[in-house]
Amino acid sequence: MSLLKLDNITKRYGRSAALTGLNLAVPAGSRTAIVGPSGSGKTTLLRLIAGFEAPDQGRIALGDKVLADGVTAVPAHRRGIGYVAQEGALFPHLTLAANIGFGIDRNSPNRQARILELMQQVGLAPAMRDRRPHQLSGGQQQRVALARAMARQPRLMLLDEPFSALDAGLREAMRDMVGDVLSTAGITTILVTHDQAEALSFADHLAVLRDGVVVQAGPPQDLYLRPTDAQTARFLGDAIILQASLEDGFAHTILGSVPADAVARRGNATIMLRPEQLELVPVAPGPSATTSLGRIVGRSFRGSTWRLLIEHLPASSVGLRFPSLALETSSIFTLETPSLTPLEIGATVQIQIVGTAHILA
Ligand code: ADP
Ligand code: MG
Repeated sequence: MSLLKLDNITKRYGRSAALTGLNLAVPAGSRTAIVGPSGSGKTTLLRLIAGFEAPDQGRIALGDKVLADGVTAVPAHRRGIGYVAQEGALFPHLTLAANIGFGIDRNSPNRQARILELMQQVGLAPAMRDRRPHQLSGGQQQRVALARAMARQPRLMLLDEPFSALDAGLREAMRDMVGDVLSTAGITTILVTHDQAEALSFADHLAVLRDGVVVQAGPPQDLYLRPTDAQTARFLGDAIILQASLEDGFAHTILGSVPADAVARRGNATIMLRPEQLELVPVAPGPSATTSLGRIVGRSFRGSTWRLLIEHLPASSVGLRFPSLALETSSIFTLETPSLTPLEIGATVQIQIVGTAHILA
């Protein structure tokens, strides 16, 4: 069941449209991530949901309540929605406790206890309560911003790229912490980010935003393995896109034959493989190859992996059987292999495909 539903939302700034007929359903209790490149409309979308702006067209509903539909416009403070902005936006002159307590009734007898409880939930030590924002690290400031947004006990929390200013290790720890805190509190969450790795790891529901519309939504694994088009495929990770000839449930490609995920299709198609579906086996170079071969033409060290540039070598048996097939744009592709077993530049490898090919078009 969805908690939040957006139907046919359009939002213009002057003559250019930030959102154009956008549809989105956010499952109740979910951690929904919306991923899209910079300028795709992520912040605009959150601001419409929060009620800081009104759509030019379309309808936004939370549960059974209409928030905005051109006639109705529930004000932001009545929506029961928390918002953590892209830049933490703390009040610089207020203490940490006063920042968190901002949304709590001044006369509430439990005010101080509630502030301490929120600090504890987001992992801020009680001794820090009188510090001001400039005396806090970036990560601590984000914790305060989150606690402040949680103080009003929202049903829905909106997070606008809250981790983008943090360094890599802290970013992951904060992402896990925030996800856990909000799940434990039973708050449905929407995270927007331009970072596909962040989106995939945070979300149990993922939507891809492009040019102001949601192009695909669903479980993260589904989107990663079965993207709707090549652009989405590449946006969610490295993709190897190949021409294929479909026959009896198999996709025959220049890299070899592999089961296809649309069994009934026949004829020519464009398919996608993720690089982790390719296994490389070193071989001695020679003319007797019976399978698809490649040569390592470049590599860069990534710590746990080597990122390899591999050039497909023509004249393998597959290529001979289907002479018209080709890699989509070039005969070079990229993949990462564990750094424990490095492959040298110039090495020849046999390429084996595992799993299934996803048919794009
Ligand atoms: P994102 O958060 O994905 O980077 P935004 O929602 O901020 O994208 O912006 C989407 C588009 O709308 C961009 O082209 C941006 O320049 C434009 N835009 C956003 N806010 C305004 C505004 N207040 N006035 C005019 N144009 C805006
Ligand atoms: Mg933004």
